[in-house]
Amino acid sequence: MATEITWLGHGCWSIVTGGHRILLDPFLNDSPTAPIKADQAEADYILISHGHFDHVADAVSIAKRTDATVVAVFEICEWLGKQGIEKTEPMNTGGGIELPFGHVKMTPAHHSSVLPDGTYAGNPVGYLLTIEGRRIYFACDTALFLDMRLIGAAGLDLAVLPIGDRYTMGPDDAIEATKLLQPKRVAPAHYNTWPPIAQDAKAWADRTRAHTAAEPVVLEPGESITL
Ligand SMILES: [Zn+2]
Repeated sequence: MATEITWLGHGCWSIVTGGHRILLDPFLNDSPTAPIKADQAEADYILISHGHFDHVADAVSIAKRTDATVVAVFEICEWLGKQGIEKTEPMNTGGGIELPFGHVKMTPAHHSSVLPDGTYAGNPVGYLLTIEGRRIYFACDTALFLDMRLIGAAGLDLAVLPIGDRYTMGPDDAIEATKLLQPKRVAPAHYNTWPPIAQDAKAWADRTRAHTAAEPVVLEPGESITL
């Protein structure tokens, strides 16, 4: 069964596999690059990496409309409960759970995390998904860290890394991360949403091809990778 992974701009991704629809970090209505609006998004599960507005902005409205279950750290699930979202899967860094579409593991991320209303949001995370035997790593918002070597140790079919710099790792550190993770394919995210995180993804891709064994895949918002 093929898994289709679509970039919805910034840190937002849609994953469709075996009839399951998963949405990561829904930020659509206020995103200058999102190809759809929140009321067009479909989801059975919503994964959230941390509490910043550019990752949770549309989570509550989409969860309410679609009745999706939201996966997030414990503290964000508590906050979602207060917004009227009852279907959550609270987790924390290092933990994994089995869901109908596959296995979800929360990985560390070096960033900060607070919800839009100032509520403490626990630690930021990334996600390692195992779907139909394929392993997909979303680093989400993070700096480079050496333990990425452990995340990639069992083999990755795809790694999604931020390249925007300023708030997350930039292109240079994304290339170092690719060396540690050793994925078959690597896709950039969290760039070109606004001028402060503008990057030349083609230049990053050329350098990734020259310095790593991974195949870089640069998408436009709305485009997909099929695994
Ligand atoms: Zn962000």
